[in-house]
Amino acid sequence: TERTLVLVKPDGVERKLVGEVLARIERKGLHLVALELRTVDRETASQHYAEHDGKPFFESLLEFITSGPVLSAVVEGPRAIAAWRQLAGGTDPVEKATPGTIRGDFGLETQFNLVHGSDSPESAAREIKLWWPNL
Ligand code: ATP
Repeated sequence: TERTLVLVKPDGVERKLVGEVLARIERKGLHLVALELRTVDRETASQHYAEHDGKPFFESLLEFITSGPVLSAVVEGPRAIAAWRQLAGGTDPVEKATPGTIRGDFGLETQFNLVHGSDSPESAAREIKLWWPNL
């Protein structure tokens, strides 16, 4: 079994998609291990997105992710990292995510792509420690 960090970003919370996302996680058979709505500070946000520091969209990404509450969740199950990424769909909601995925069904723009998921066991460990240090 494996754990991954899932976020519903401020656009997803604002658009009332939290229930939709949680329902898809549960129907897939994944388990919710931790769940909390919180507004993240700039410091945590830049640590979370450290790999994108220096990229042209980094500043607006930080602004966006700190703009309102996000749902932070730890999700567990067999191949949870890949399973969640399958549910989420590709980064670009139009060019990459296919219909039937969260981003494919509800997203239009790459920055405002509604959800996040860890992309490897290493990032999952790092992100879960950052968001849930006491887990
Ligand atoms: P991963 O790359 O780990 O598979 P991801 O789908 O979250 O996952 P990243 O490439 O890590 O995508 O980018 C992180 C976030 O930054 C994206 O989810 C999106 O919100 C934003 N982003 C990525 N590329 C762009 C871009 N070209 N323009 C604006 N925002 C972007």
